[in-house]
Amino acid sequence: MKNTPQNLLLGNLWIQNNSKTTVLQQKHRLVTAPNKIKYEPLIHNQESSPIKKINTLLSNTPVDNKTNLMQPKVQKVTQDLVHNSPKNEAVATKLYSSWQELNNQIIGCEQCSLCNGRTNIVIERGNRAAKWMFIGEGPGEQEDLQGKPFVGASGQLLDKMIVAMKLNPIEDVYIANVVKCRPPFNRNPEKEEITACSNYLFSQIKLVKPDIIITLGRFAAQTLLKSEVAVGKLRNKIHSYQDIPLVVTYHPSYLLRTPSAKKEAWNDLQLALKTFAEL
Ligand code: URA
Repeated sequence: MKNTPQNLLLGNLWIQNNSKTTVLQQKHRLVTAPNKIKYEPLIHNQESSPIKKINTLLSNTPVDNKTNLMQPKVQKVTQDLVHNSPKNEAVATKLYSSWQELNNQIIGCEQCSLCNGRTNIVIERGNRAAKWMFIGEGPGEQEDLQGKPFVGASGQLLDKMIVAMKLNPIEDVYIANVVKCRPPFNRNPEKEEITACSNYLFSQIKLVKPDIIITLGRFAAQTLLKSEVAVGKLRNKIHSYQDIPLVVTYHPSYLLRTPSAKKEAWNDLQLALKTFAEL
């Protein structure tokens, strides 16, 4: 399925206006016709489920003739229903206990719409036995092409930061992202994309068992700390993720745009080094 404006992502629910049928959470099907969206459940016994409510809502919902999109109000309500669906919660809490199991799940993942635009799934680089874990946001163009995180311009800066910490970017660190597929045009990942992907990141942390985590930018910090607070307010202190000390700093691409923030980022890295030395 192409990631065009004609397609609407509603959590795991795709509505594609230019084809007849698409899949909803692998158990439900959506039938579309010009200017109409009709949702047909394949399972009929979920009377009180969010799916049932979505079904009622979408049944014969008119679509805007010009944009081919549903009315924003309907989109919003539907999104909320999908976000709150038990399936999404289950996805978010499912952790994988071996690299093999994790890889099997990630390869071919279609949990969110980002799969439609990807060249490669971008999982990791560095050492799976590293004591240091760096977590970014999501792949950019180069990462999508090469299948490895932080290999573009921001990756070069990240490597310089790591070397400045007297760490080896290949042996001493493990690097991953919150979302594993490139968001179109490098836009921010959406909440439901992060939810769909975060079990992979949580599993990576569980498997690497790092001694310390450094989050790069807003999405990594907010996902691991379950916070909505801005990076500027989260940095400069030691947090903890599952008893692992966690230091928040700016994303390297922000540092490329705002070189004046590099000094603060360096202070964050010093704080992380000091914390690590005291473990
Ligand atoms: N930005 C990120 O957050 N991650 C990457 O892998 C590349 C750029």
